[in-house]
Amino acid sequence: MTTPVTSLFKLFKGKTISFNSLMNNENNSEKRIIQSLNRMKPILFIDRDGTLINEPPDLQIDSYEKLDFVPDVLYWLSRIKKEFDYYLVMVTNQDGLGSPNFPDEKFWGPHNLLLKALYAAGIQFDEILIDRSLPENNLLTRKPNIGLVKKFLNSDFDISSSWVIGDRETDEFFAQNIGCKAIRFGNKATVHGTITAYSWEAIYNYLKPKRKANINRKTTETEIQLALNLDGNGLAAVNTGIAFFNHMLEQFVRHSGVDLTLTCQGDLQVDEHHTIEDVGIALGQAIRQAIGTKRGIMRYGFALPMDESKARVLIDFSGRPFLKFKGKFTREYVGQMPTEMVKHFFYSIAYSALITLHIDFKGENDHHKIEAIFKAFGRSIAMAIKQEGSQIPSTKGTL
Ligand SMILES: [Mg+2]
Repeated sequence: MTTPVTSLFKLFKGKTISFNSLMNNENNSEKRIIQSLNRMKPILFIDRDGTLINEPPDLQIDSYEKLDFVPDVLYWLSRIKKEFDYYLVMVTNQDGLGSPNFPDEKFWGPHNLLLKALYAAGIQFDEILIDRSLPENNLLTRKPNIGLVKKFLNSDFDISSSWVIGDRETDEFFAQNIGCKAIRFGNKATVHGTITAYSWEAIYNYLKPKRKANINRKTTETEIQLALNLDGNGLAAVNTGIAFFNHMLEQFVRHSGVDLTLTCQGDLQVDEHHTIEDVGIALGQAIRQAIGTKRGIMRYGFALPMDESKARVLIDFSGRPFLKFKGKFTREYVGQMPTEMVKHFFYSIAYSALITLHIDFKGENDHHKIEAIFKAFGRSIAMAIKQEGSQIPSTKGTL
């Protein structure tokens, strides 16, 4: 049998770790493994002239009069900087900078004023890379060549999720050479089917993380296809082969506001265990993937009554899996769902979503108790995933 613990810890790059060592040892390597699950940072390689500031007819910004910002760039780029997790790198070709035609002293005044204005809007570039050569020099440091950014390529940065944002064809080639994606700023036709953005607002909306996940999970016991959208409308299409379990998952979806499409073909001829367990694991994985960096989300809980029963679910997207489950069922089954599998389902979710869950309930009718738990879980998830602001809700800076 596949237990949630072994299934989950297969995720840790093949390393097996025990739950007890995870929870009891403050400074163990397992914690670091969990931290490393946080995604590596992608980079925005942003062009300067024609992208942040307008390019004059002579293509050279060598006086304060020529410094002219692209509309709304300060507002939208500051939101990108604040709300999304990108490393910001400015990469700019400044043809012949330092030569008599373009002396340093004429460049740095307007350039530093640009940086001050960006800074005042909350935008600080992590690095600024300037190539001073002329096109005919054909230097490896000049875009679209990647000499200036080579150090990022074999590093911890997430290059495949990185972007070049620039106004020229050379910026598109630059992205190709890096191996990342490109957004062509402005209204010129793109050469390689690159995404075109006419405004910084469009760039912001395009880069905004989509909180969705797709899971395809196949074992000898179950085959699961699952699509989750955390910013959904409470729409469910669920088929696990266990009617009562479907009904409970639909309650979770309606009360959480997420969209969930789920089919599970499990070995129900054996019993219901693998189906319920593996749906929990897959749903937990999907939640963990879709929640991303957890920026702006909250920690929450919810309690609700269901006739004579009541349930309380407290949730924390802590990055530390834990389940406390307090309450008793009197029946062995509700529909085709074994009541002992309710705890096991939430255990599987907690472990694969890396969340802390405290569930307690009381009542007389087991159907009501279970329904109250799933509804309260849905409500807690709804509040916990709601994005308000852009802060990661932890003083540690990561969850
Ligand atoms: Mg440019």
